[in-house]
Amino acid sequence: MGKPKAGFYSLTSCSGDILEITNLGEDILKLFDLVEVVHLNVAMPSTGKDPDIAFVEGAVTSLDDEKFLKTLRKKVKQIVAIGTCACTGGVIARGPEDRRNWLIDVYPESGAGFDIHFPRPVKDIVSVDFSIPGCPIEKKYLLHCLGYLLKGVLPEVPAYSVCMECKMKGNECLLRYRGSACLGPVTKAGCGARQPSLGRPCDGCFGFYDDANKESLIEIFREMGLSEDEIKKRFDLFLERGR
Ligand code: SF4
Ligand code: SF4
Repeated sequence: MGKPKAGFYSLTSCSGDILEITNLGEDILKLFDLVEVVHLNVAMPSTGKDPDIAFVEGAVTSLDDEKFLKTLRKKVKQIVAIGTCACTGGVIARGPEDRRNWLIDVYPESGAGFDIHFPRPVKDIVSVDFSIPGCPIEKKYLLHCLGYLLKGVLPEVPAYSVCMECKMKGNECLLRYRGSACLGPVTKAGCGARQPSLGRPCDGCFGFYDDANKESLIEIFREMGLSEDEIKKRFDLFLERGR
């Protein structure tokens, strides 16, 4: 029996998640060992073969995106949403709901003709077997999940917050000692505390973790002097999209 076939596809996005895959370095050999890659957008021409498992990045913004997903769903055994845009709509799902009038304002000549709708996550159009969040995804997390998915079982992922990973790395807490509005206490782990390890507060791109105490963090932000509007913007960037 041959290896399972995997395809990596992009909807409306910056292609950041697929680029993370192409940046796997030596680990890309592990990927090619585990699966036959039949489509890897931006990195190789498509083989034209249908995959068994499809990884889809990006948000759904057009009828073409919808049609593509519906056709793909019929062909594959599993669809995995990769990256925050595919999981929640992501940062592009900010701004006005009415994209048509917005486009006409920006492009008076041609805006009305664009096939663009409010960005939606993949799960709003087709059933999704698993979601791998991140803006962009974390390479190691992807390979970890892939191992489980190829065995037909749901991946075991950390059930704690980014703070736990941050502590494991021995980082100084930005919230406590530098007065930074870090969202690590309410965000799902999996990125290895990517931003706090570089001295930047977490923005919450992995989504809320199950026991997140949002109210308590909001209270801390208020005590730090953040306005209600600033607090709302922090949570709206990523976290409130995944609800
Ligand atoms: S820096 Fe952020 S993620 Fe790290 S422990 Fe502090 S609050 Fe948590
Ligand atoms: S630190 Fe926060 S914003 Fe940065 S990658 Fe991790 S979850 Fe996403």
